[in-house]
Amino acid sequence: MRSKHLLVGNWKMNLGPRQGSSYARQLRESITNLARTDVWVAPPFASLPIVATELKGSLLSVGAQNVHWAESGAFTGETAPSFLTELEATFALTGHSERRTYFGETSDQVAQRTAGAIAAGLEVIACVGETESERNEGRMEKVLEGQLNPVLAKLTQETAKSVIIAYEPVWAIGTGRVASLDDIRGAHQFIQRVWTSFNLPGSAVILYGGSVNPSNFADILALKEVHGALVGGASIKLEQWLDLVKIAEATPV
Ligand code: PEP
Repeated sequence: MRSKHLLVGNWKMNLGPRQGSSYARQLRESITNLARTDVWVAPPFASLPIVATELKGSLLSVGAQNVHWAESGAFTGETAPSFLTELEATFALTGHSERRTYFGETSDQVAQRTAGAIAAGLEVIACVGETESERNEGRMEKVLEGQLNPVLAKLTQETAKSVIIAYEPVWAIGTGRVASLDDIRGAHQFIQRVWTSFNLPGSAVILYGGSVNPSNFADILALKEVHGALVGGASIKLEQWLDLVKIAEATPV
């Protein structure tokens, strides 16, 4: 368990270096006091160095939207974990549904990426989630298990504390269709059971992701099964992002 809520902004392929640095400056100047919330942002790779520089010494942490498992080699287009730590990034996402859907990333690769990043000292937010048809066909649990098992199988008692799971139903990402509180509770409870079945220490830290915005976040974060949120669209709109931070700060941990 974390002692604070965790709010993570996934900027996706938005905010290149120029816009990203000016947005980061606004975040640094606006977020000057956090008691109950850790605020992390994941800019696109090209913006990461300048955003990391801009946020150095601020209350925010910076990470990447993906990471390779190897330290170097013939992997065109990929980024080694140590390149990220060199930039003072502290975390990386793995297995985002857009990586799985558009770039064919498999759960075994997600597990490799996760293990490699942890070995380099990063925290990892491993994303899982079912599509709408998988849910309608009653296969949600099977799908989540299939995505989680390879990741959890590579963890040790020691490395497990560096992993955070993000439950992101694919049909709720970027669609404006947020999952119901019952759906979220049910999925998070299931993920927790899978975590326990691996005899890992403590309990899983689980974020919800999928069309989180200031009008639905308070109810979602009030669920005891939810430890924070992974946010796309609303994370790159300053007013909405600051509202989400305010909501997290007002919610007891
Ligand atoms: C995401 O990119 O992980 C995400 C949840 O996006 P959105 O908040 O836009 O649905």
